Amino acid sequence: MLTRLHNIVQDVVASGKFAEQLQIIVVEVNKALGTEVCSVYLMNPMRSGYIMAANQGLNQDVVGQISLGLDEGLVGLVGRRAEPINLEDATKHPRYYYMPGLGEEAFNAFLGVPIIHHREVLGVLVVQQRAKRRFDESEEAFLVTLSVQLASVVSHAQATGGISALSGSDYPAQDVMFKGVPGSPGISQGVAVVIQPVASLDGVVDREVDDVTAELQILDKAVESVRADISRISEQFSGSLPREELALFDAYLHMLDDEAIPGDIRDRIRRGQWAQGALKQVIREHVRRFEQMEDSYLRERGADVKDLGLRVLSYLQDIRTKKIHFPENTILVAEDVTPGMLASIPAERLKGVVSIKGSGNSHVAILAQALGVPAVMGALDVPIFEIENQSLIIDGYYGEVFVNPSPGLSNQYNDLIDEEKEFTQELDLLKNLRCVTRDGWRVRLWVNIGLSGDISRSLDRGAEGIGLFRTEIPFMSKDRFPTEEEQRVIYRHHMEAFEPRTVTMRTLDVGGDKPLAYFPITEENPFLGWRGIRVTLDHPEIFLVQVRAMIKANVGLECLLRIMLPMISSVTEVDEAQRLIDQAYDEVLEEGLQVKRPSVGVMIEVPSAVYQSRLLARKVDFLAVGSNDLTQYMLAVDRNNPRVAELYSESHPAVLKAMREVARSAHAEGKFIGCCGEVAGTPAGAILLMAMGYQVLSMNATNLPRVKWVLRNVKRRDARRMLARVLKMETTAEIKAYMQGELIAAGLGRVVPSHHK
Ligand code: PEP
Ligand code: MG
Repeated sequence: MLTRLHNIVQDVVASGKFAEQLQIIVVEVNKALGTEVCSVYLMNPMRSGYIMAANQGLNQDVVGQISLGLDEGLVGLVGRRAEPINLEDATKHPRYYYMPGLGEEAFNAFLGVPIIHHREVLGVLVVQQRAKRRFDESEEAFLVTLSVQLASVVSHAQATGGISALSGSDYPAQDVMFKGVPGSPGISQGVAVVIQPVASLDGVVDREVDDVTAELQILDKAVESVRADISRISEQFSGSLPREELALFDAYLHMLDDEAIPGDIRDRIRRGQWAQGALKQVIREHVRRFEQMEDSYLRERGADVKDLGLRVLSYLQDIRTKKIHFPENTILVAEDVTPGMLASIPAERLKGVVSIKGSGNSHVAILAQALGVPAVMGALDVPIFEIENQSLIIDGYYGEVFVNPSPGLSNQYNDLIDEEKEFTQELDLLKNLRCVTRDGWRVRLWVNIGLSGDISRSLDRGAEGIGLFRTEIPFMSKDRFPTEEEQRVIYRHHMEAFEPRTVTMRTLDVGGDKPLAYFPITEENPFLGWRGIRVTLDHPEIFLVQVRAMIKANVGLECLLRIMLPMISSVTEVDEAQRLIDQAYDEVLEEGLQVKRPSVGVMIEVPSAVYQSRLLARKVDFLAVGSNDLTQYMLAVDRNNPRVAELYSESHPAVLKAMREVARSAHAEGKFIGCCGEVAGTPAGAILLMAMGYQVLSMNATNLPRVKWVLRNVKRRDARRMLARVLKMETTAEIKAYMQGELIAAGLGRVVPSHHK
């Protein structure tokens, strides 16, 4: 049975057209269960009832014609109850509904199971038989299992308009939205230009050759041509991208160094494989290695290697990138957008990016942000083969894509784009103003930083300090632990750029989803395992080197250096860390350097730290809430798991109460309190945290100007009133709706895009 089920699902997935997919289902289910009728009923686009979408065994003419109300017949009952109904003689059931023309009079046995996706009933799968009999448990289980697997196919058809097409033109056209994840903020409208990879590595066959020298020469020529292309592209970008982002292209060139990828390819050619086959094998190996990495940032690097491989292959096959016309408002769409593709489009014509694969961590997302171009990543349902030259709207704030929008929607978004432009110009004027509420309450807006490219972006947007330096990021880009001097140089670079502002360096926070390739940690449950301070306290040699590098980086500068400890779950960890920091500081002084002792603070990221926050505050100079992890641990929701993403909410009442508790503890001990999780960079979050008395909000540089604008336009008195209301609310939804309403009522609706109001 399992093989049969597997085969049906595979056949369905392999067939592209929705009507064909449904036909495969009804035919194969009849075969598998020995039934005479199998039908699929689907919820119509207006959600007002079901249409007969496919059948085998009944009158074929009724497909797309027959429809049932939500409460009509046994199909309606299966949908309402959201569970299977199994009847020996359906005609005797009070809900049996005779539909003339269908031809089901002769059938008695009935088994209907709902098709449900993310809690929503999308349709009903039915089998029928002449004989009066009850379907046995294994038959029922088979149909239920099949329907669970088909739900995503139906959901895709619903999103892509496949269901409207089945039902003819009876339903008014609706704007269809495809959901992805935000890659780079902003909204744009434009024309889809779909770029396919120029050649396919999968199509390359293995082939033995005798003339090894000739193959080596072909390879050298191809690699040289790709190097030249990349240098040209990098030059083309040199005016529009900061130096740090241009380093990406250097990374590409490094991969093409003799001892890197080409070296491996040459080895294989020397063993008798032709150049194309050797290239395919080496690229696959490298890509696989990247894809197995647990860290999502490193995983994405596999796409870069693939892109390089394809470029070399296209020269080996003597295929050049076809000359594509890029209209003025190009929205680049590709299965897996690569930095190279981005670079092939004149910067002034590129208005947006849609990538079917990838995440907010992808290089492309980072580049798009640097270029100020909206991007939607991981838009799995976008029908890439059907949208060439079609008009698109993309919303990089919410990760949404609309294909062929109606004039109404298009106008609505055009207005939004105009508003945005105006708003950004206005926000630029705030750069040098302090963040003070209308009734004079001062809030410090700092930035979260990691890549060195963040420095210029942050200072450009008026950052007043660094609230979180994620030091693990420079550790990740190495193949061994960086030395004390290497670390000192990186840290000093940031401190010099920010002098005399405050710089908060977090000690190494690896483990969880942030492994180091050269320090593997394999655990069943990494988020509850060896993470953050737990690792560094077990390895004082790593901790001491890092702390010394931080302290030394500050020699002779006016920066206020703060050292922050991640993942603290007990006071003993703080005592031990303080002892080591004292030791590191004394060692630096013994070396004859003159420097102030840094302040030390604790991140509040786990529930135990919330309950001991008063005690913790007594032991350190400041507390900073890491709301990203605090939310994950309080709600028991993995922050990286898309399946439970809807349960992850920093505005959950329990999380907000915890954050208020921590602020109270810090105030009671007279210590500084900040928040450096994503919630601090949202308009509603910033208002509530300010009302709770958070003195520092640290966020990514992109969000900073908006948050400043919002806070400068509210009164703390009003924010406290909102907080009091919110703390009495029971659900996230209630809180979100209320805060949205308050923002709009206060005239701050510009930070709530109008289609989400
Ligand atoms: C947090 O957990 O909120 C935080 C700021 O740290 P990170 O996102 O790096 O885990
Ligand atoms: Mg954290």
